[in-house]
Amino acid sequence: MEGRYSLIHHVRSLLDDEEGTLYKEAPFRVALCYPSPYHVGMSSLGFQAIYREIHQHPGATAERVFLPDDVEAFKKTRTPLFTWESQASVSSFAMLAFSVAYELELTGLFTMLELAGMPVLAEERREGGHPLVVAGGPLTFSNPDPLEPFVDVLVQGEAEDLIHVLVDAAATMEREALLDHLARIPGFRVPGRGGQRYHVARATDSRLPARTQIITSHTELRSMFLIEPERGCSRGCHYCVMRRTTNGGMRTVPPERVLSLIPAHARRVGLVGAAVTDHPRIVELLRTLVDAGKEVGVSSLRADRLTQELVDQLRRGGATNLTVAADGASQRMRDMVDRKHSEEQIVRAAGFARTAGMKQLKVYNVVGLPFEGDEDIDELIRFTTELSRILPVALGVAPFVAKRNTPLDGAPFAGIKEVENRLERLRKGLRGRAEVRPTSARWAWVEYMLAQCGPEGGLAAMDAWRAGGSFSAWKKAFEARGCEPYLARRVADERRNPVHWPTVPKMAPPATAA
Ligand code: SF4
Repeated sequence: MEGRYSLIHHVRSLLDDEEGTLYKEAPFRVALCYPSPYHVGMSSLGFQAIYREIHQHPGATAERVFLPDDVEAFKKTRTPLFTWESQASVSSFAMLAFSVAYELELTGLFTMLELAGMPVLAEERREGGHPLVVAGGPLTFSNPDPLEPFVDVLVQGEAEDLIHVLVDAAATMEREALLDHLARIPGFRVPGRGGQRYHVARATDSRLPARTQIITSHTELRSMFLIEPERGCSRGCHYCVMRRTTNGGMRTVPPERVLSLIPAHARRVGLVGAAVTDHPRIVELLRTLVDAGKEVGVSSLRADRLTQELVDQLRRGGATNLTVAADGASQRMRDMVDRKHSEEQIVRAAGFARTAGMKQLKVYNVVGLPFEGDEDIDELIRFTTELSRILPVALGVAPFVAKRNTPLDGAPFAGIKEVENRLERLRKGLRGRAEVRPTSARWAWVEYMLAQCGPEGGLAAMDAWRAGGSFSAWKKAFEARGCEPYLARRVADERRNPVHWPTVPKMAPPATAA
């Protein structure tokens, strides 16, 4: 019992440090679940926005739940998973609504259902009078298929409007009628009953901007008030889920409205969005915030949009390093994926950062794009060396993972060995000149399989989770479930049913360097 008390005590101490927590009694209770720990979930603007939306609904309330930091402590003390606000058992709620950011969070969802005392598979819950299980979040912008075996309903895309539709219906309808009803509404998908696949809903503009409801120091973005001055992106990078075709391009919010929503007590402000520096009045917004004495961070800096003034404002707002994404080892690769910026623009950005007095340039890049070769990696080594003469460079490198709902959908994974070789070439070539921070090729492959597979990929994830979650458990599980990436399935299925699949633009190989 003492162990259980200490778990509750820990949550209460985190609650004491929060500002903006909402408490409300209402007939329809939603457990709003994040399948990663508190310090990650509380940095999710989407999660916070839906929390506020549910509280604004006249007949509903929401309490938050996170993947525990110490799952074993819950198991050892037989403590059922409980909510943050009232520490009530999650299974006593009418609905569990999960926000899933990316593929590997699937196992967090399994653990949370297990700790809540609920079967992981939706078909095993149906007869038991369990709460409705719903999932939405950024993963639904690309491929939510692996979630299908575990949820009753998928909410696809921007959920600020759909959550009201869902709560209205769920509060008044019997389960069977509810599922049939939702399967007919665009944006919802009900496994086994229908709903448009890969439909990304778009929230009405009046619900923007998304913004923090609760500020806490116990998050990745410590005590920062997040707000979204723009949503979406007008560009068309071929690998990106947030490209213009996903949700209709960029929608901006006037700075006056953004400023009016930032509470006076917020000392740190994060401007977040897919393409914040594309906002036509970004410099003015930054300047006003910094002049008001705020620390300011910006989530997405595009090298081709940076000016000395913009970078100076970031420095005045407390930034000590400048982060840009290059997303292509060479110009040939960047051109191929329609990533519209050049070496010159990145070099210029490094110069702005040095002039502003920043200490480091962080550059994000990707390896393993289709048609990439050693010569592209060598160009990245040469170019990063050049940048490091301007400012110390930290190079973040992620293996390329093709996502559904993008023109590069179906592109193969370069191969674990191949990616590791390229990372090794990069590390060797930049030794003593730049810090290389790669992400794991193995886990990128697991992500790729989940990004490209259907519901069977989700079942494989469940098997791997049950088998302990090691890389070899994942590999075995994908094999045992006969998982094949999208392209292989598509080719086989197209032969049988040529009209079934949407047309995906073909990628042309890049021009070879002269
Ligand atoms: S990578 Fe960035 S700039 Fe390109 S489409 Fe995506 S959000 Fe826009």
